[in-house]
Amino acid sequence: MKQTAIVWFRNDLRLHDHEPLVRAIADGYQILPVFIWEDRWQHQSPNGFLRMGFHRRRFLSESVHDLKRGLTKLNSNLMYVSGSPVRVLTDLISQYRVSALYFYRSPLHEEQADEQALIDSLGSTLSICRFWGQSLIHPNDLPVPPDQLPDQYTAFRELVLGKVPIRQMEEMPSAIPTIDTPYWGFIPESRTAARTRLTGGMTAACHRVDDWVWRGDYLKSYKETRNGLTGMDYSSKFSPWMALGCLSARQIEFTISRYEKERGENDSTRWMRYELLWRDFFFFMAMKHQTRLFRLTGLKNRPVKPDPNPELLTSWVTGNTGIPLIDSAMRELAATGYMSNRMRQVTASFLIHDLKQDWRAGAEWFEAQLIDYDACSNYGNWQYIAGVGNDPRPDRVFNVMKQAREYDSKGEFVFKWIPEARHLEGSMIHDPASWKLIPNYPPPVVEIAE
Ligand code: FAD
Repeated sequence: MKQTAIVWFRNDLRLHDHEPLVRAIADGYQILPVFIWEDRWQHQSPNGFLRMGFHRRRFLSESVHDLKRGLTKLNSNLMYVSGSPVRVLTDLISQYRVSALYFYRSPLHEEQADEQALIDSLGSTLSICRFWGQSLIHPNDLPVPPDQLPDQYTAFRELVLGKVPIRQMEEMPSAIPTIDTPYWGFIPESRTAARTRLTGGMTAACHRVDDWVWRGDYLKSYKETRNGLTGMDYSSKFSPWMALGCLSARQIEFTISRYEKERGENDSTRWMRYELLWRDFFFFMAMKHQTRLFRLTGLKNRPVKPDPNPELLTSWVTGNTGIPLIDSAMRELAATGYMSNRMRQVTASFLIHDLKQDWRAGAEWFEAQLIDYDACSNYGNWQYIAGVGNDPRPDRVFNVMKQAREYDSKGEFVFKWIPEARHLEGSMIHDPASWKLIPNYPPPVVEIAE
């Protein structure tokens, strides 16, 4: 009889381009595919927010269901267990007499601590095979080790773009030899009334790639539209699926390359690559700086003195600052679990530089809400705007009024999320004098520069 290997699915909820799965099959094992709903996701952050709010739970649950359906089509299945990864895996290994454990490694210290605990307790009794798969560039292919990479994005991009080869994608297995067991666990449904059309899972992810890249042909104009605020197509919306690994970064890179061959290279295809490299950059910075990613003083160890004020923080979180552009974005986030890149920058800058709050409180709220939450990109971007991370400029302050006039000149975004303001036509909505005409709308919590 074949020996058994666990393939532990973490942030890699897909069947295509999945090296641990492909290698475990090639190594001749019968597979026990496992997903663990981790205890720590139910915990609270230091500022009292849930680490995983309901939008994230919904998207993750849909993605796990979709993975199970995909496995079932290959005559396999997915074992679903909740608990702490070390305890769950230790139990399964003993219960099913497992000989090997395959999984993708994490760049984050908490998850790495789990990996180390598994190696320490089980490494001598079974084979543990770990892989890198979240980034586009494999860390071993970098010209220097991650801890020697430059701390500025442009220098990083110059070092790698067009110079480091991207590894080939793994084929999806046509069949998965799987252990025979009657018990696979029950994946809870997580239904919400979210106002978003994004559904978790690799099936929806592949549809999105087809719709956005091929049918909609949005890679032709992405560079011009990417700062949009309303609608589905101004940007790709790939991030939620990439965060859970329903899409691999390589799959997107190879889609861009195919697009360039078939429809031509342009500024937008190049720009999309730059954005994917931002994601890699934050991934490698997390590997390099470890726990400094979560510290107030950031990667730079720069002293900052926020002025914590729970009322101001609550006004920002609930979309009641009295500043329509900010409140619209915060209400969009609470209703959908998504916010455009432009508004992430503006709302983060507002919390840090106008309200003088601790950037980590904002990062924690985003962590709870964003369906594309990724610790490296989230904390990395927050540090960037707080001036304690990778930004060479010390204070990247976004002028809210200027941003409102530039990116929402007709008020379309604000009217969507503050419908009670619709009677204020066009640009009047960005004139502070008119805000008191919005029924039941709070006065601004701070005076903001024109
Ligand atoms: P597109 O514009 O279509 O970009 C394509 C892909 O490039 C994205 O899917 C993403 O993978 C990558 N990308 C683009 N911009 C960035 C960036 N600035 N940093 C890292 N990767 C980028 N992104 C996350 O994936 N998870 C997060 O938790 C997250 N938190 C953020 C917090 C703040 C304060 C800010 C300013 C940005 C954050 N971002 C985060 C980056 C960015 O806002 C999102 O990746 C982007 O809005 C996702 O939408 P999209 O897929 O349509 O992006």
